[in-house]
Amino acid sequence: MRPKLFIILFFTMILQACGTTNESVIKTQQGKLDLTEWNQDDELIPLYGEWEFYWNQLLEPEDFSGGSVNDEAQMIDLPAIWNTHTLNGQLLPSDGYATFRLHISIPDLDDVLGLQLPIMYSANKLWVDNQLIAENGQVGKNRRTSVPEKHPQVAYFWPKDHTFTITLQISNYHHINGGMLDPIILGTSQNINVSNVKEIIFQSFLIGFLVLAGIYHIGLGFFRKVEPFFYYFGILCLVAAFRYLMVGDVFFIKLFPGIPWELANKLDYISLYTHVPLLAMVLYRLFPKESYRWFTKVTIIVTIFYDFLTLFTNSKTYLLFEVYFHLFMIICVGYSLVVVIKSLKSKHEERYYLLTGITFLMVTILLDISAAFLRLPEVDVYPVGIVFLVICFSLVISRRISTSLDLSKNLAKDLAQLNSGLEAKVEERTLQLQQSNRKLEELNDKLKSMALIDGLTNIPNRRQFDEYFKEQYTICAKENIPLSILFLDIDYFKNYNDWYGHQKGDECLIQVAHVLDKQINALPNGLAARYGGEEFVCLIPEADQAEAQRIAKNINQQIEQLKIPHEKSPVSNYVTSSVGLYTAIPQIQIDLNTALKQADKALYQAKAAGRNQVASCSTI
Ligand code: GH3
Ligand code: MG
Ligand code: MG
Repeated sequence: MRPKLFIILFFTMILQACGTTNESVIKTQQGKLDLTEWNQDDELIPLYGEWEFYWNQLLEPEDFSGGSVNDEAQMIDLPAIWNTHTLNGQLLPSDGYATFRLHISIPDLDDVLGLQLPIMYSANKLWVDNQLIAENGQVGKNRRTSVPEKHPQVAYFWPKDHTFTITLQISNYHHINGGMLDPIILGTSQNINVSNVKEIIFQSFLIGFLVLAGIYHIGLGFFRKVEPFFYYFGILCLVAAFRYLMVGDVFFIKLFPGIPWELANKLDYISLYTHVPLLAMVLYRLFPKESYRWFTKVTIIVTIFYDFLTLFTNSKTYLLFEVYFHLFMIICVGYSLVVVIKSLKSKHEERYYLLTGITFLMVTILLDISAAFLRLPEVDVYPVGIVFLVICFSLVISRRISTSLDLSKNLAKDLAQLNSGLEAKVEERTLQLQQSNRKLEELNDKLKSMALIDGLTNIPNRRQFDEYFKEQYTICAKENIPLSILFLDIDYFKNYNDWYGHQKGDECLIQVAHVLDKQINALPNGLAARYGGEEFVCLIPEADQAEAQRIAKNINQQIEQLKIPHEKSPVSNYVTSSVGLYTAIPQIQIDLNTALKQADKALYQAKAAGRNQVASCSTI
């Protein structure tokens, strides 16, 4: 909501509270009012101006019929508090009684007339001509006989003639003021009714609003314990509603018509005082840094004092002190404004709403206080101020809710983004993990094969041979088939290495391995492996001795046919090998090493016999 709209709303409310209908100001003069030109359909007439005034006399219409009392008439401007009025140079006391009279001339009427009577201090009786039409409390000539009552009333009458006389008696022994603050209002019954209904609607609206706001804020305080000012503000709204119910003239009296004047008055003032500490506490909770705790405590102490005073003394005493409470309220308003102005420095985003609300409330309170001080008609606009503050609070709360909704929406969005990012990340990581797993597997395979393959010649190494040999040995033993072990050693390889260099030696080893691999691994279940150094071992299952010999010889020849020059070999110009072959049908009970030793032995024999040949033995 824009601030402009705020202000318009505020002033509309104030206007509503101040003036309810079209009232014209026609002043009565010398106790007479000429309304012959009165446009009765539209206008309500507040009976401002000079009324006949008979101090210390309670006169009834009959008393004037002789005409003698007329001479004693003084004039008083009504509405008035008579203890501000001087009579014969002397200020009148508040205690006393008086009669007021007003003669009114009216045009032809087509409706019953009504008088809207304000609260009078503190008992009154009213006649139109000779007809008693309203009575409030009991008018009396002393404190004992004068019974106060606080009933604003509407009285209707049908004037018999074009002129009529209002006779009003007021007595006061209970209030510190005598008389009345607001004027009596005259109008057709219809207009008076309309004005009354408007007043009721306005008050219903205010009271309803305050009660609802009270319950709402107490609820908020209950559920949001971190922000206790909601509690205090809720209670403040309820207290304001209660007080408006009391001073708003309409409801309380209608609901409890029999309530004693003294009790109604006490409740009225106690509820008024209670506003102050509640407001101070709200302010303290809203602006903890800017307000003063001690001041809040002072307001509580002062209010407790005033509440007790009101409870336990009579109206004369506590009303006398009430004036000073108004002074204290002005100090409180000043304090509130200081706090609010201090809060402007803060970076609090809601400070403008709160500032506007509190300032308006303070202005309305000031208006009410000044009206009470100046003894002007009661304004009672502070409930409007509270309504306005409630609106400001609602805006603050709506803003907070909206901000937190935005925040949670954004958080949810961020979270969703984070989640989807997380999913993608998890996917990516899983992929990476799978890849590195695969790599690990490959590496593992490689390692495994490295453990079983000879690095230089790329054929199985001794470890693989040993395992495979065990396997095949058992199989051949079970199946009762022959198995040959072939040991091959390169002749004079040390010489070769020394002469051609280690590099060439390696190349030679690779070539020899290649021949073996080709020949043996082509056989079913055959395996050629590097046994160590320049020695190789081959396993030839399923072949008989002759076949194995043929294979061994073939290998031997093929190595020589590689024609790798070997100048330092005494047996050939090329690299040659010696082969030892052992063929047997394995038996499980015979040790594997024994078989190997047999092959080795054959190799030794081949060497001993001059190298570059195959020597074989067999146990078949
Ligand atoms: P013999 O005819 O009695 O078998 O004699 P030899 O020289 O072949 O046998 P000896 O055991 O005396 O020497 C083997 C040589 O093989 C010794 C070493 O220098 C060589 N050797 C062993 N492993 C490797 C290898 O991996 N690469 C190379 N280049 N040479 C190796
Ligand atoms: Mg050797
Ligand atoms: Mg050798």
